[in-house]
Amino acid sequence: MVNNSRGAGQGGAVMLSAGAGRGSVVAVGGDDFVDLTGLTKAQAKELLEKIGPNELRPEPSRGILLRFAEQLKQVLVIMLLAAAIISAAAGEWLDFAAILAIVVINAAIGVLQEYRAEKALQALKRLAAPVARVLRDGAWTAVPARDLVPGDVVSLEAGDRVPADLILLESANLRVDESILTGESVPVEKMPAAGSRAGGDSALYATTTVVYGRGKGRVDLTGMDTRVGRLAATLSSAPDEEPPLKRKLEQMGKNLGIAAVVLIGLTFVAGILRGEPSLEMLLAAVSLGVAAIPEGLPAIVTIVLAIGTQRMSARRAIVRRLAAVETLGSVTVICTDKTGTLTRNEMSVTELLAGGRKYVVTGGGYDPLGEVIPVDVDGIPMPPAPLTAPRGASGPDGLRGPLEALLAGGVLASDAELQQGESGWEIVGDPTEGALVVVAAKAGLGRESLAPVYPRVDEIPFDSARKMMSTIHRYAPADGQASHVTLTKGAPSIVLERCSHAWMDGGVVPLTAEVRSQIAAASQDMAQRALRVLALGYHRFDHRPEPAGEVIEEGLTFVGLWGMIDPPRPESRKAVEDCRAACVRPVMITGDQAPTAMAIAHSVGIATGGMPPVSGAEIDRSSDDRLAEMVKRSSVFAEVSPEHKSRIVHALKRGGEVVAMTGDGVNDAPALKWADIGISMGLKGTDVAKEASDLILADDNFATIVAAVEEGRIVYSNIVKAIRYLLSCNSGELVTVTGAILAGLGSPLSPIQILWVNLVTDAGPAIALGMDRSEAGVLRFSRPNPRDNLLSAGMTVRLLAEGLLIGGLGLGGYWFALARGGRDYARTVCFLVLALSQMFHAQNCRSPRRSLLGMGLFRSRPVNLALLASLVLQGLAVFSPLRRAFGAVPLAAGDLAVVVLAAASVIPLGELLKAALRRRTASA
Ligand code: ATP
Repeated sequence: MVNNSRGAGQGGAVMLSAGAGRGSVVAVGGDDFVDLTGLTKAQAKELLEKIGPNELRPEPSRGILLRFAEQLKQVLVIMLLAAAIISAAAGEWLDFAAILAIVVINAAIGVLQEYRAEKALQALKRLAAPVARVLRDGAWTAVPARDLVPGDVVSLEAGDRVPADLILLESANLRVDESILTGESVPVEKMPAAGSRAGGDSALYATTTVVYGRGKGRVDLTGMDTRVGRLAATLSSAPDEEPPLKRKLEQMGKNLGIAAVVLIGLTFVAGILRGEPSLEMLLAAVSLGVAAIPEGLPAIVTIVLAIGTQRMSARRAIVRRLAAVETLGSVTVICTDKTGTLTRNEMSVTELLAGGRKYVVTGGGYDPLGEVIPVDVDGIPMPPAPLTAPRGASGPDGLRGPLEALLAGGVLASDAELQQGESGWEIVGDPTEGALVVVAAKAGLGRESLAPVYPRVDEIPFDSARKMMSTIHRYAPADGQASHVTLTKGAPSIVLERCSHAWMDGGVVPLTAEVRSQIAAASQDMAQRALRVLALGYHRFDHRPEPAGEVIEEGLTFVGLWGMIDPPRPESRKAVEDCRAACVRPVMITGDQAPTAMAIAHSVGIATGGMPPVSGAEIDRSSDDRLAEMVKRSSVFAEVSPEHKSRIVHALKRGGEVVAMTGDGVNDAPALKWADIGISMGLKGTDVAKEASDLILADDNFATIVAAVEEGRIVYSNIVKAIRYLLSCNSGELVTVTGAILAGLGSPLSPIQILWVNLVTDAGPAIALGMDRSEAGVLRFSRPNPRDNLLSAGMTVRLLAEGLLIGGLGLGGYWFALARGGRDYARTVCFLVLALSQMFHAQNCRSPRRSLLGMGLFRSRPVNLALLASLVLQGLAVFSPLRRAFGAVPLAAGDLAVVVLAAASVIPLGELLKAALRRRTASA
């Protein structure tokens, strides 16, 4: 039995001391030790205050006047200005002044909304800001890249964006894509600096990306002093793509504009032919034009999308592109990786196979307290002995048996560090490697004692396509027959096929078919119990070998296996159920071996129907057509590499699916770009993956994707509700105005009255519908079809019906009042009936189908508040001195009561309409 209280290595050639410690870190670069001592937290803070943050100054934003002027360029505003001129020509000075005032207010609201949307996007960008791993007070910590200062030591690996101009101090085949600065797309290999100044091959520049290898560097220049800063280039990414919905709306706006012009022309001609005064008809035509156009619509869509992104970030899904919010709701397949998304990514080694013997490991988490206990085939503990077993004749010297070699190899071939943080033991680096470091620490083996004896001189870094990595170490064995040893660790099948020998407890033996199948069976057995399995092999050399796979990763001697648990997240199972209930198919795509993948897929509920997993090798063998068939049926893909992910996305898209795909590595970027929604991991994702994605999961959690899809559906449905509301109000106004003019009753509303209703009283309820959650529960189960036309036949019929309803009430009110009083009185009644009926109609629009009786009439807080605000504004327009601007006259209390009752009838009438629609779809 081995435990961490025992000083391992006593009496051996090498003294091994317990635990991996913290403090100043000595790293190895080339054949020499490079002393990497970064700054202290206090030094960094002081310097940061002095020289400012490490960021490029953003482009100065457009001035307020320029923004204001841009608002005035809109077609709507030009139409309004024309209306103002016509009003002035007709001597309607009040209309003229009021229209101008509305133009100014509208532009001001536009500027404000643009500013708000910009702020919301900036806040999102801050949430998605890059982080750097930096050495402060002798410990590696993650800090926002903007807090870096010259002198800081940072570590880099594939997928990182270089956070500042650096001098490379240590490199393991570090290759950098500098195309952003030089236009040259071939990655450049970088070498550690001999001197202290940046330049030549040792200079790394901010904004370039690491595409391969690892390295550490000292920050030389930050912020605007960096090369990219001096070039005055900006980091600002491509402008945010216009949401498709917004584009559809703009197109719809144009079509409506054309329809309005035709309608205006026809009504004008009809009026003139009937002998109406032409000025009067011109003013009526202006009213019609204003009634036809949903002025507030584009702004409201942007606001609702921005509110949606804020809601999603509260649920830890950070949207990088506004357009993604809309697509999210229509996702039909979520392809997720396993490690960290469905599981916790808290690895701990629980079993070992070394020297042909099995061991169990006790203890949990990252605490290096625990024991390594040998067990027999049935798992019964056996007498202790492993570390004191006789030294394997051909094994790496100083390590007295395969178990010790496996544990020490895990530390030497890993980069993770075990540290005691404020909240206990923690791992800096890859959790898989962390688990190897922890299990070694439990047996008293730590990097501090191992690294000086086996200094790492080179490596082939881990690559998820190769599924393994190798490190080259210098060492001096007692037999004097070697000078270097290489350690290769990775997926068991990959390592095993490169082994020719195995180090058993009695010594090194040829890897016969029998031994090979015993090892493979042990690995299968661990995997079937949901353990992630890694294997270790070594190779001795009498010279320093080149870091090339064909040299150092062939003819290996197998040392052993680690089996580690990574428990599923407790919320994964429920999230998978929710996902299915929402008609979205969850699919697991993992680099791990098939049995591990299936075990986890079963435990979270992804594997159903007894379909076997599809392996990366099978994908390679399959044509695109066959793959398209496979992806329809299979929900688990194992042993895949990043390029398989792109093929899976294509195959799913060919089948008409709307695909969300997760990814974290540098090679995942193409798949993330191809997917309809690319999702990257906020915690373990590389900068490159994050930049290729539409959505970042702040907690790397699958449940968050499901939450974001739900939120996306609510946003989409709310936008449709707001559009429906505004368009039905517009069509109501059109019915009123055209009806009255064609009936020879003159224009029932002045342009200013229509504008007021469209831009002021309707805006609040429309935004409120955009924030409404009355349908949240229902929407979880219904998926919008992204290919549905916004103005579908059903929607057009509904808009016409609702327009007739509201318009009928307005027209009726006008006609009734005209018969009893003067034109101003009738217009006042019509103005009030229309405004109030539209406010009440917001209640109808809370659900396209469900009855208000079931939902509760005044149950939506935002809609109620908006209603109240609109009532106050409408009251001001009709009952305060402002009324003169609207040409309104005082109304008697009795009249008012009739007007309110008439307007409120839009609710029961709307209910009848919904019932009729429900019956029609039920019988269809
Ligand atoms: P997922 O897609 O679910 O996140 P994964 O994390 O297993 O899967 P990769 O990180 O690409 O995918 O790993 C692929 C395989 O490579 C793993 O199954 C494991 O066998 C091996 N592997 C993972 N990390 C290391 C490492 N640090 N060193 C050596 N081999 C590793």
